[in-house]
Amino acid sequence: MMTQYLALKREAGDCLLFYRMGDFFELFFDDAKTAAAILDIALTSRGEHQGEPIPMCGVPVHSAEGYLARLIKGGCRVAIAEQIESPEEAKKRGGSKALVARDIVRFVTAGTLTEEALLEPRRANVLAAVCDVRGTCGVAACDISTGRMELEECDPGQLSAVLARLGASEVVCPEEWEAAPDGAIARPRHDFASDEGEARLKAVHGVATLDGFGDFSRPMLAAAGGLVAYLDHAGRGTLPLLLPPVARDGGSTLAMDEATRNSLEILESSTGGRAGSLLAAVDRCVTGAGARQLAEDLAAPLTGRAKIEQRLTLVQWFHADPLLRADLRGVLRALPDIGRALGRVVAGRGSPRDLGQLRDGLGEARRIHDVLQSRGERPALLDAILPSLAGHGALTDLLSRALVPTPPTERQNGGFIAEGYDHALDELRQVSGNARRAIAALEAKYRDETGIAALKIRHNGVLGYFIEVPSRHADALMTSDSGFTHRQTMAGAVRFNSLSLHEEAGRIAEAGGHALAAEEGHFEELVGEVVGRSREIASTAAALARIDVAAGQAERAAEGGWTLPEIVEDRSLDIVGGRHPVVEAALAKAGERFVANDCTLSPEDRLWLIGGPNMGGKSTFLRQNALIVLLAQAGGYVPAERARIGLVDRLFSRVGASDNLARGRSTFMVEMVETAAILAQASEDSFVILDEVGRGTSTYDGLALAWAVVEAVHERNRCRCLFATHYHELSRLAETCDALSLHHVRAREWKGDLVLLHELAEGPADRSYGLAVAKLAGVPKEVVARAKAVLDRLEKGRAQTGGLAAGLGDLPLFAAAAVHEEDQIDILRERLHGLDIDALTPREALDLLYELKREAGEG
Ligand code: ADP
Repeated sequence: MMTQYLALKREAGDCLLFYRMGDFFELFFDDAKTAAAILDIALTSRGEHQGEPIPMCGVPVHSAEGYLARLIKGGCRVAIAEQIESPEEAKKRGGSKALVARDIVRFVTAGTLTEEALLEPRRANVLAAVCDVRGTCGVAACDISTGRMELEECDPGQLSAVLARLGASEVVCPEEWEAAPDGAIARPRHDFASDEGEARLKAVHGVATLDGFGDFSRPMLAAAGGLVAYLDHAGRGTLPLLLPPVARDGGSTLAMDEATRNSLEILESSTGGRAGSLLAAVDRCVTGAGARQLAEDLAAPLTGRAKIEQRLTLVQWFHADPLLRADLRGVLRALPDIGRALGRVVAGRGSPRDLGQLRDGLGEARRIHDVLQSRGERPALLDAILPSLAGHGALTDLLSRALVPTPPTERQNGGFIAEGYDHALDELRQVSGNARRAIAALEAKYRDETGIAALKIRHNGVLGYFIEVPSRHADALMTSDSGFTHRQTMAGAVRFNSLSLHEEAGRIAEAGGHALAAEEGHFEELVGEVVGRSREIASTAAALARIDVAAGQAERAAEGGWTLPEIVEDRSLDIVGGRHPVVEAALAKAGERFVANDCTLSPEDRLWLIGGPNMGGKSTFLRQNALIVLLAQAGGYVPAERARIGLVDRLFSRVGASDNLARGRSTFMVEMVETAAILAQASEDSFVILDEVGRGTSTYDGLALAWAVVEAVHERNRCRCLFATHYHELSRLAETCDALSLHHVRAREWKGDLVLLHELAEGPADRSYGLAVAKLAGVPKEVVARAKAVLDRLEKGRAQTGGLAAGLGDLPLFAAAAVHEEDQIDILRERLHGLDIDALTPREALDLLYELKREAGEG
């Protein structure tokens, strides 16, 4: 057995091997140790290998799914080795000692799941393959639970941003690739050949050319090759549902890198869960598929006005008709997840229940179609997707006739084909029904004949049908002429057989076997019908998801008094009465009111410097504006009174280092890497929020960097930008940067206490309120008093020497030429000036910053 095990384990590679033994999957050696630790189950041992006991643990087959789910969550992959013949077959083949043949039937990995129990209903499950073809990265991504597949290409420097957008649960890449993303699974290099990839895609979709699906570059096809090869490997030759690939054009979505996504807490909050995220604050979808679509919309907002407006018009349509919306959402709520049911059926893991879900879901889709069709004046997007809701009439009819109302999740025991669908099956069922009735009649007859009222005919898995009487009556039946044959003596009861019972039981068994075979045959036919229409069914599922998203967005807007944003193609941002959806909800729970604020940026006034006390609401203000842009471009209403959004191509959000102490790297370095990326990438169409950048280092360094960064953003990137800072020295920049203006969050001291108004006002912050905040936070009075004394001394000194920022106001502007060699800030300025920022990688930018620091005599 160990020989067979070790051979399978070699094949399983670094996956845990689930080795089927009867009713258990057993794990051995290190696999057992890993699994026992993650699953918190007993680690035992069995036999010896090279003189050492073999560690072992096992999980019951019938509850294996739950254990699998935990192992996958724990970061494992699992190879399932099943018995591929029965013990009888093995005996026939190789005598009584023969080992049952086993083979790996499937690899279960995070990216290749289809089981309902292993997937989160409201979350897509993405598998991605990435590779590099002559300096361009190809990315192929699919969610096999629904079959969606997307191909794109990007510069190597953008790969991490693309992967962050995809949020893949598993990534594969070519072996020995030096640019392999963290945690990616290495696969043979030849899987990632573009001609192979093209051939595989053609084969999957049965087409001679991919032209009908779109334009795919070599890197895209190479990645697709790697993806399909991996799926083929994981399914051991059975491919899951794959819809025709869609080519994604990088420019059609709002670019956001990983740091921006994390800092805006789009799909997950900084603590890791969905709670507290933008998604959670917006999501009012009533179906899992809708929630998945919304998450995708928010992860990849659009940049094309026409498409955004199409979505918005649909939301507006639902917003304007609360009754229709409520009706529709009621119907959608009861809708099964047909996309995922389809995924399981195509992957060969479908159950009768999945077919039932398709029947019900497609039937409801038809009704939704009819309701929406009957409305006049429909938005264009709805008209475009509406036809895909109808057209499954023949299939739903077939499924309705064939299936019982609530089909079971298991098909081994039959019972899912409806009466009247197949006469032969009905007859078989009648035969066993008759035989069952005959057995009931026998029981009555035997009671009569023997006079034993306690006689029963019973059934169990071992004996089949038998007659049972209490022991004290048994003797009467033991006689040779009684017509009963003894089978088993129990404590208190004795069991018998009879000829008639044997015959009737035989009829039941035979008819039952035939009936099961007939049902199995029908199941295969029905699966074939579904698979034949998988593309159409997938587009129905997508249409329902889109409708759910739009109706949900309308619901959210109505609930929160949100507004329809106006999308324009200029470089303005005009938000009146904007709010932060997550903070507002949190405050509402505590019974507090959110103070709405305006943000009006234009080419003439595109950089706002925002000062004011800590806790005054600066970060909240920055983020709410970024989120409003994001929501609008995702095609939804926004939390504001009015919003006019000049389309944004890239969105950046950065938070000064000290907020992110939990990360492993030097936080200041992280801050600077991220800042460098902004300086290198932000265009005039971008929107950038910078929160306390420069805070992670000493005051002088920090101020100098903040100063230089603001100048660079103003002079070079020329993007719209909100910059929150507590350095009021930066106010001086308003004198030289003409598109920069000063703002602050208001606070007041009232009877010696600080009152934060969370209200944005024009002009510089009058002072920093640091001590007042300290007092508010409960720092002991003596300490605050001492700090006040120190502060007074410092300020006096500053007044005498001209102060920390003395002379900065006279500093020539960023782009100007004159430089004082000895002035540290000027050195920085000159180096930055000679820089082609667009040509720098984040890494080079970081190195440069270190160099600058060294040159300035500090590093
Ligand atoms: P800062 O960045 O200035 O330190 P934050 O934006 O982190 O301040 O805000 C601190 C707290 O103030 C928030 O957690 C929130 O409770 C409250 N707050 C912020 N903005 C508002 C607002 N507009 N209305 C009401 N409360 C707010």
